[in-house]
Amino acid sequence: MLKISKDRVHFAFDAAETPVAFAESGDEVTFCTQDCYCEQIVEDGYDFSRIDMNRNNPATGPLFIKDAEPGDLLRVEIRNIRMNSEGSMTVRSGAGIYEIEGYHCRRFSIEGKQIIFDQGIRIPVKPMVGVMGTAPEGAAISTQSPGEHGGNLDIKDLGEGAILYLPANVPGALLSMGDIHAVQGDGETVICAMEVSGEITVKVDVLKERNDIPTPFILTESNYLTTAANASLDQSSVEAAHKMHRFLQQHTELSDAQCGMLLSLAGNLRISQVVNPEKGCIMEFPVGLAKETFIR
Ligand code: CA
Ligand code: CA
Repeated sequence: MLKISKDRVHFAFDAAETPVAFAESGDEVTFCTQDCYCEQIVEDGYDFSRIDMNRNNPATGPLFIKDAEPGDLLRVEIRNIRMNSEGSMTVRSGAGIYEIEGYHCRRFSIEGKQIIFDQGIRIPVKPMVGVMGTAPEGAAISTQSPGEHGGNLDIKDLGEGAILYLPANVPGALLSMGDIHAVQGDGETVICAMEVSGEITVKVDVLKERNDIPTPFILTESNYLTTAANASLDQSSVEAAHKMHRFLQQHTELSDAQCGMLLSLAGNLRISQVVNPEKGCIMEFPVGLAKETFIR
């Protein structure tokens, strides 16, 4: 199986980025990834001032997928996430959505399926991928930002078994990923999660002539998820909800009013993250409610 090493990183989704590997539709590929700090935090209590914050959110890739042409959809199924046995976090004054004094770097052990936190608190792991995206058609986009190309989505549902649908904007699509979290809460409120290095194995498929999936779109075992990221959380909430409304309209015989009612009853509008340059919302709708599965 194709494996991309963790030193093949870049810091912007960019059509001009040279591919580091080539795959065909249907292939499985493993992306080895560094944590979001480029593995600079080597011990608990590490000196914050020694971290080069310009080396943040490295994405491994890009992978050129041979059949992908602009206008196609890329289906990326997360088959496996393997994590290292320690994770890092930072908390600092001026970051996150409220003030916390000082500058702090921490390392935590991950033993089996649990993170060994402080004061006897153990947190079950729920591994997920923070950054996954394709190159945009126009100007390069920093790996700090989420957007229509995917990118720094920080959606906790993007774990093992989840499928992310992304647009192919350029020939080969140029898929990259990184920023594994051992666990993350909705909001990611202090600006980081349990940041770990590891390996992500995905299956990539090119879908032709599909205009019925509002990207970036996530399918999990239990939910359909539409996503939106904007400067304002208000705007993202409206956009994510409206995307799901249109998705339901496209895939059912329900009227405009019926879709609205159904979403208001059974959909969940959630915050994904509030700390990236564009704030993210997701609208989830249970897969099991519809008579048939809309997409796979
Ligand atoms: Ca992130
Ligand atoms: Ca992160």
